[in-house]
Amino acid sequence: MTDCPTVDELLMAHAVGRLPEPLALVVGTHLALCPRARSRYSRFLALGGLLLERAEPAPLAADAFARLLERLDQEEQPAPACQRPVAWACAAPGLPRPLRDYLPGPLEAQRWRCYGSAAELELRLPTPGYRTTLVRVRAGRQVPRHTHEGHELTLVLAGGFSDKTGHYRRGDLAIADGTIDHRPTADADEDCLCLAVTDAPLRLTGMLGRLLNPFLRL
Ligand code: ZN
Repeated sequence: MTDCPTVDELLMAHAVGRLPEPLALVVGTHLALCPRARSRYSRFLALGGLLLERAEPAPLAADAFARLLERLDQEEQPAPACQRPVAWACAAPGLPRPLRDYLPGPLEAQRWRCYGSAAELELRLPTPGYRTTLVRVRAGRQVPRHTHEGHELTLVLAGGFSDKTGHYRRGDLAIADGTIDHRPTADADEDCLCLAVTDAPLRLTGMLGRLLNPFLRL
């Protein structure tokens, strides 16, 4: 397993178009929800544009940079993270793009897999090697304790959660790997909704988690 990337490293990779689609979806949605991330991303874009111009001073590179900056200025519509076309009439007004473009309709109308106090909805992205899900956890409840065989990116879309690494609210992006064994707990006052991407299975580390193995068999 490679080193766990930082949020800045993900932003830089996104700025130069190097992220696979599931990670681009997470980072693009993070940008839509987090003004601080947008500010840092704009700097990385500028740096990437300069590098592109040095390497290949073609009109296409300059035009692409200008278009990206223009999109950054639009609230809730950062740089285009998704290569997949919008296939459905969007009906999830509480969620920003690019995530909204991946949903077939209202969240409540989807076929969620329920596991006690948690539920998940898998988003079928074509990129092999990744699993992309929306995860809901009821207020004050926990997901099974686990660690990770690869990387886990968790973006809070509503509510919040806490684990040993901190407290995460709407727009925050948590990154975990095999060095982290945790049991995220949703905030007590609101159900937590997250977008999660993993590139390898989770590994359960608690007795309750083993009982709920199907929920975390990624
Ligand atoms: Zn985890």
